[in-house]
Amino acid sequence: MRAREHDGDHIAAELVRRYVCDDPALTVDETWAVEAHLESCAACREQLASGVAEHAGDVTALLEGVWAELDPAVAASAPQPAGNRWLRHLHAWASPVMLPWFGMTALMLLLALAVDAWTPLLREGYPSMVLLLAPVAPLSCVAAAWSRGLDPAHEVLAGAARGGVELVLRRTAAVLVVVIPLLLVVGWAAGTSPARWLLPCLAFTVGSLALGSFVGIARAAFGLIALWAGAVILPSLFAAGSPLPLEPSATPIWGAALVVGAVVLAARSRAYAWLGSQ
Ligand SMILES: [Zn+2]
Repeated sequence: MRAREHDGDHIAAELVRRYVCDDPALTVDETWAVEAHLESCAACREQLASGVAEHAGDVTALLEGVWAELDPAVAASAPQPAGNRWLRHLHAWASPVMLPWFGMTALMLLLALAVDAWTPLLREGYPSMVLLLAPVAPLSCVAAAWSRGLDPAHEVLAGAARGGVELVLRRTAAVLVVVIPLLLVVGWAAGTSPARWLLPCLAFTVGSLALGSFVGIARAAFGLIALWAGAVILPSLFAAGSPLPLEPSATPIWGAALVVGAVVLAARSRAYAWLGSQ
């Protein structure tokens, strides 16, 4: 938060009043800053509560009406099992929607390994299927981690104060934590060095988030998969040769792509607060 909005370490009373009254002049930055501070500061939550009572009579009346209806229902319901709290924490990192996509990714890599191990393709000069698939392996899980079309809880998350790019990055990290070790194991079994696929894999992942800030992550991720399949996988299968983009000489280009992707993502991070067209 900028200094003028602060009263010591707390939110200024005037800012709380504008927040309560839903002041249209309040910027998204200010709203986010207020919500982030409220999450961790009980004193300011109290200030907010008294602000609501003072400035927004209709809200108070509405809340009292809701509580009058809810109270008997809450009293009659069973207490929530403690496990829910843990589940809520987990939801910040992963969504149940991602599970089938993890499964599909694992299956795809095992199939590629089987093709490498039990067909004569490698001996005939074809590139390793595991190597060809590795750079785009995490992308479908990344798409599932933050997509309106694939995640029924998307709207709730996009509207949460902790939503937006922070959640996207956390869930992407969760995807990489699962998929990279899987790739290391399958790649090791296939005899493929991580030096050849790790940087492309990270560049594609960051690239899909950067591109996703313009067109939506699902569209960006599946678009990049299609591009990779059309431009690299198919031609190298037809030519029965090792794909140039996965030669060691291409490493600086992947490094540059990763940096450009990260810079674009940082510049566009606020787009994730309102992403809707996925
Ligand atoms: Zn405070």
